[in-house]
Amino acid sequence: MNVCPTAAIRIKYGKATINEAACTDCGMCLKTCPRQAIYVEQDDFNQIFKFSYRIILLPSVFIGQFPEDISEEQIFSELHNLGFHYVMEVDKSTGLLMEETKHYLQQHPRQRPFISSFCPAVVRLIQVRFPSLIGHIVRLKQAMDIAAIYVRKKYIDKGIPEKEIGVFYVTQCAAKIAAIKCPVGEESSPVDGVINMDFIYNKILLSINRHKSRRTDRYRLSGTEGMRPFLCRRGTGDQQPFSHHRKITETDGELYQIQLHLYQ
Ligand code: SF4
Repeated sequence: MNVCPTAAIRIKYGKATINEAACTDCGMCLKTCPRQAIYVEQDDFNQIFKFSYRIILLPSVFIGQFPEDISEEQIFSELHNLGFHYVMEVDKSTGLLMEETKHYLQQHPRQRPFISSFCPAVVRLIQVRFPSLIGHIVRLKQAMDIAAIYVRKKYIDKGIPEKEIGVFYVTQCAAKIAAIKCPVGEESSPVDGVINMDFIYNKILLSINRHKSRRTDRYRLSGTEGMRPFLCRRGTGDQQPFSHHRKITETDGELYQIQLHLYQ
């Protein structure tokens, strides 16, 4: 109870309950509860198969968790084996976000000091405890939302019906999970579901260790070259869609989509 920054935990009839309106999803109670009584609701991995086209968004830290002798190609290959058609690192959207943030700061000089909307727990904390600061929050979406909007549109532009496209984000962060399930000030999240980082890391590592002797360039071996252009990989020119972010925002008229709508 004492760790909660918003006093959202209350004891009723000898049982701890969380006041959802006051909770900021910071995860402090989750980390400190000695009995692990508090947990984050996880989506079932098989939910991905409700969609014909499955896209996975990876945070930058994910690849770095693997031992150095495991290549990105091996990781992407395993993700493909698990059922994903497209892998995108969320970092790819940070270039666009930085540009738009610079633009936003110039356009809203009266809003100083600015507060980044990067962490959903901070945004919730301001809404719950410090509503007078809401006007200082930079109203741009998070990198994961921008990546999801971009990649979904990419598939829609290929003629794929929107309802067949599933976008999933890998995370362990309680605040990010809550932001996807109950978006702050938005009707719905552009991300369809969450995949637990521990779960997918262990699945990939186990599979790679089982098949250690197999070649790492499975795409060429397995005859799935058609998948390769869909992969978004580090340091590979046209597979970094956000390197042309200006063009994307202007020609596609998508700029409005990265505005964050916050209620006061
Ligand atoms: S997640 Fe944070 S704000 Fe919510 S009940 Fe736990 S400690 Fe309190």
